[in-house]
Amino acid sequence: PVRTRFAPSPTGFIHLGNIRSALYPWGFARANQGTFVLRIEDTDLERSSQAAVDVIIEGMKWLGLDHDEGPVYQMQRMDRYKEVLAQLQAAGHVYPCYMSVAELDALRERQMAAKEKPRYDGTWRPAPGKTLPPVPEGVQPVLRFKNPQGGSVVWEDKVKGRIEISNDELDDLVIARPDGTPTYNFCVVVDDIDMAITHVIRGDDHVNNTPRQINIFRALGQEPPVYAHLPTVLNEQGEKMSKRNGAKPVTQYRDEGYLPEAMVNYLARLGWSHGDDEIFSREQFLSWFNLDHLGRSAAQFDEAKLRWVNAQHLKAMDDQALADKVLPLLQARGLNGLDDGRLPRICGLFKDRCDTLVVLADWAEVFYADSVKMVEEERAKHVTEAIYPALDTLAAKLQDCAWDKASIAAAFKEVLAQYGLKMPQLAMPVRVLTVGTAHTPSVDAVLELVGKEKISIRLQNR
Ligand code: GLU
Repeated sequence: PVRTRFAPSPTGFIHLGNIRSALYPWGFARANQGTFVLRIEDTDLERSSQAAVDVIIEGMKWLGLDHDEGPVYQMQRMDRYKEVLAQLQAAGHVYPCYMSVAELDALRERQMAAKEKPRYDGTWRPAPGKTLPPVPEGVQPVLRFKNPQGGSVVWEDKVKGRIEISNDELDDLVIARPDGTPTYNFCVVVDDIDMAITHVIRGDDHVNNTPRQINIFRALGQEPPVYAHLPTVLNEQGEKMSKRNGAKPVTQYRDEGYLPEAMVNYLARLGWSHGDDEIFSREQFLSWFNLDHLGRSAAQFDEAKLRWVNAQHLKAMDDQALADKVLPLLQARGLNGLDDGRLPRICGLFKDRCDTLVVLADWAEVFYADSVKMVEEERAKHVTEAIYPALDTLAAKLQDCAWDKASIAAAFKEVLAQYGLKMPQLAMPVRVLTVGTAHTPSVDAVLELVGKEKISIRLQNR
């Protein structure tokens, strides 16, 4: 059975580039009736925060990336790591190294001067017939992993293809600090074993860790999982997306009015494709997703494209479902009377001209607000004194009008005939006065939804 995980480090607010590394393992688990585990890699105490964990959990919940197991916190598994470390040590795969930081620095400098790749030279690695240096007094050693010598590590990466790294390139990794705490690469392997992870799908910033992790797997008598290393997500400036260069926390997109379905759709396409399909549902994504069509090159974030995808999903949504999403936004703005039945119809009327829920809420707000904020240039252009008499006549007619679209349209027609006007000459000022702008769907539909009482007040407000 397929078991995947998302293993974020809560060292900053996760952005879209990070959460894409949750979408694929989630999708792969769901598509294969597997299990998806959330693991919080919080061992960097200095940089980790609860607030960052909250954004991870909230963001995943918003996007519907539900996990079956976890969250498992690495900090709570320290005893387990130490236990496995002891096993590894007992099996002879680990040795203490007493080299000081100063000695390591000196070694690195010598290697750099000789144009060699800096690497640990194995001074403290035991070998048959080898005499180790005398153990310095009062020094707590680090523990190093005895990386295999000779041969190479090979894996068939689901994104990058076959990768082969010679063991001579890999030095003996520190797997425990002087205080006995295990280091990152070791914890990851213990977790992936204990969680029985079958497919590791993660960012390719970890690709250099993989051969080391594979060697630790084997030393522990385990076969490594399948790996898929995802190419980087670039921001709009073409740099690696990161919070340091302004990437927004994923939850901010929720607050800006993006639909989770649209975000999943957009993120899915940011590094994976299903032919030319651009707009698809979560269900379609799950029915199509596999690891064979992951892209090999870096994907670039494009906010305009995201807005477009969002607009497509918004347009396709059922009016009532849309109203359910817009309602809390309007409530948060302190508007009243929101349950009067108009909201689904307002959403239906405006949804194809909105690209976010916030834009749709802005429209809907006009229908419930006490006053209208008019676009000043439009007011000056359309609401001129010359049109006042016609506006008065229309207002009077609307007072006695049965309140439906056809009757409202008929009232307009009569006023146009009486004053010899063309439709826009009357409809534009009416729109500006009643909803704030001349750019709206058909005026009779808009007026009907604003309601008789509000229309009467708003037509006088010039
Ligand atoms: N914690 C790592 C990160 O946030 C991911 C490690 C992994 O997936 O193996 O980048």
